[in-house]
This record gives sequence, C-alpha cells and structure tokens, in this order.
Amino acid sequence: MEVERRRGAAAPRRVVLLADCQSFYASVEKAERPEYKDKPVVVAGDPERRSGIILAACPIAKQFGVTTAERLGDSLAKCPDLVIIKPRMQLYIDVSMTITRIYQSFTDLVEPYSIDEQFLDVTGSLHLYGTPEALARMIQARIQEELGVYTRFGIAENKILAKTACDNYAKKNDSGIYVLPKEHLRETLWTLPIGKMFMVGSRMTRHFNAMGIDTIGKLAETPLEKLKQLMRRKFGKNSDINAELYWRIANGIDDSPVRPGTHEVAPQSVGHMMTLPRDYARLEEIKVVLLELTELVCQRCRGKGFMGHVVSVGCMGADYDRPSGFSRQMKMADPTNVTNQVYRAAVELLVRHWDGMPVRKVGVSLSQLSADDEYQLSLFDRDREKTMALERATDAIKRKYGDATILRAVSITPAGQAQHRARKIGGHYK
Ligand SMILES: [Mg+2]
Repeated sequence: MEVERRRGAAAPRRVVLLADCQSFYASVEKAERPEYKDKPVVVAGDPERRSGIILAACPIAKQFGVTTAERLGDSLAKCPDLVIIKPRMQLYIDVSMTITRIYQSFTDLVEPYSIDEQFLDVTGSLHLYGTPEALARMIQARIQEELGVYTRFGIAENKILAKTACDNYAKKNDSGIYVLPKEHLRETLWTLPIGKMFMVGSRMTRHFNAMGIDTIGKLAETPLEKLKQLMRRKFGKNSDINAELYWRIANGIDDSPVRPGTHEVAPQSVGHMMTLPRDYARLEEIKVVLLELTELVCQRCRGKGFMGHVVSVGCMGADYDRPSGFSRQMKMADPTNVTNQVYRAAVELLVRHWDGMPVRKVGVSLSQLSADDEYQLSLFDRDREKTMALERATDAIKRKYGDATILRAVSITPAGQAQHRARKIGGHYK
C-alpha cells in the first residue's frame, strides 16, 4: 500500500485528530450525578481501602493536587472532602462507544486508541466542515452537550503528531484544540524536554540525558546512524529498531493509517482466581500456583493485546468462617504482560503480605490496562524481545494444542494445578 501510494500521484496531506476525553471516568460519573458538579470527585479502584488506586480525578480534585494512579490514602491527605466513586466500567465502555459513534458521524475513519482516546482521519470529509479547528470545535460542543464530557483535540498530519499535539498543547490551552504543523516542529515540539516525547518514560529520559540528549530537538537532529551507535552501547545491537522509532517520533514521521475498529476497548482488569484442592501452607507451594495464575492472566492479556500496570494478588484462608489472608495491589515500573515481570511483582506482594496461615484460594489480576501495540518501542530489556517472542510462540502452541502441552517445570510438582486444570478444559481444544 505504501509503495502504491508513493508510485501514484502525491497523496494529499492527511488531517488526523486525536480526541481525548478529559478525566473520562470522573466526567462520566459527574454527568450522571449533578449533585457532585462542584465537588472534587475521583473514581478509585478499591474505594474501601486507602491503598486503592485513583483511576480518574476530576479537574476540581486535581486542583487539590490529586493525581491519577496515586493511592487513595495519599489523595485523601491532600483533599479530605474527596467524593470517592467505585468504577462502573460497563457504563464507561458504553459512553466510549457512544462517543465513537458521534465521531463516526463526521468520518468513517475512527480508531479507538484507548477507552478515552480515539484517532479520526478527517481528510476526506473536512471540506464539509471548513477548517480542522472548526470541525474539532463542532465535535467538542456536541459531546459536551450530549454526554457532559469535555474533549481535547490534537490535530496534525499523522497519528504521532496528533497525539503529541494533544498531550503537550491541547490539554493545556483554553480551547482544548491545537494544530501542530510539521513545519513548525522546530519552534514547538523540539524545544520540549526529552521526557515529554511520546513513548519516553522516566527510564528512557535518564538514558537519553546520559547520552547528552535533553530535548526532543536534540534527538531529532542526531543523525540516525549516530543515535543507533549511542543506543547500541547501552542496549546492544537489538536496539537499532528502537533507535529508528524514537528518531522518527522526534521528527514527526509516521505513515501508519487510522484503522477503523482495530482496537478493543480495554476491560477494567484481567484476572484469575483458583480454589486449591487442599490447604497450601508453604510459601514455595503458594508461589507455584501464583506463577501458574500469573501465566494464565498474562497469556490472556497477550491474546487480547493488553498489558497491565497494576498487579493484584489475593490469598484467602481455608476457614471461611474465620477469614484470613490478604488482597493487595502494587504498581509496576512499566505496564507489561510478560509473565516473569508480573510474577516478580506478585511474589513481592505475597512475601510482604502473607500472614503464614494456610491458603485455599489464590487470585492474580492485572489492571490499569492499556494497548500493547506500543511496547516494542517503549521497553528495552535486552532480553525482552526474545522473551516476548518466546511467549507469543508458547501462547500459539497452547491455543492450538491445549494448555497442558507446555508447562513450566514447577507445574509438574505436587503443588502445580495447571496440568489438572488444562485437562479439565482440554475437551474444548482440538
Ligand atoms: Mg483522557
């Protein structure tokens, strides 16, 4: 397709919008409950616990310093009058789909990127509406009126720049709309610190800074070959592809089309709970089940194209009349669906919180899910790509031949449940 386009007449420059819903879950809740209109509102994963995590904070709550992903206890310290709402994911998914349909009334090229962000390619229909800003204003007003949700629009000639325009500019100006022409990168994007670049987290910021690259402009103007050399020194030869991706992002180069409907809206969490055939009283045994559950959860996430940022582990005692056990969650350094990484965090939770009492039920889940299409570019363990390739391969084999065909060695120990479980559902595989 790419080749065809180059061979043919020069393609018209595209007009791509990234539309983002402000404080999405909190906005939906406030629209549903007018009595909270002027109150600081958050949606929290586990409202009964101070360790629950803030999934969304409304602008009033943010004025108190409340931020997404922090613990509820920390938010309450900053804002004691906080209104705390339990998430209603099905409602948010429904509203997100209603918003998709509104976007689709302006163009058929709408690609949901996450539950509250969607790409629109309006190249073909723009002539009906005037300028891109005028179109964005029209959509913005309609969603505000119909759903009470405020949307912000980054506008550019491709997805990367539209996303960049939204995150760095549209979210911060009064209109919520920002056009970022590629010709103006030098005066805009390139002046920003490297940490503001799409896909660059705190870890990569440190690495780039150590290479002497502290602005997006410096990265953009580093010759690609030079950048590859710099990154190879740090991450090895496999980093060439990432070097090129970063370099392209900094230069605003992105040919990827807006693909309608390529994205499933992320569920709130993916988890598995298992009742054990007997009490497990030794840490080593519980760890085996924990690994199996983690593997299942990660496998499901990989299959659906999600990764999770928060891992939760729950263990329940055998005596249901005298409840013992714990349920705790922690945020990992980066979102992931790699079994070993999630397992490491899960074990940490187990070791820290298990009271030593016999366990009968174990559960693992991943939440704060996001799409995993970006993660080849965003993460750099030298072994990560190999690990991912291996996991994709084993997932495929399990899908085809059943879960028991490939088991981790520990699953064959007496504590393992994977073999037994796979047999139980084995009839469904062919
Ligand atoms: Mg948002």
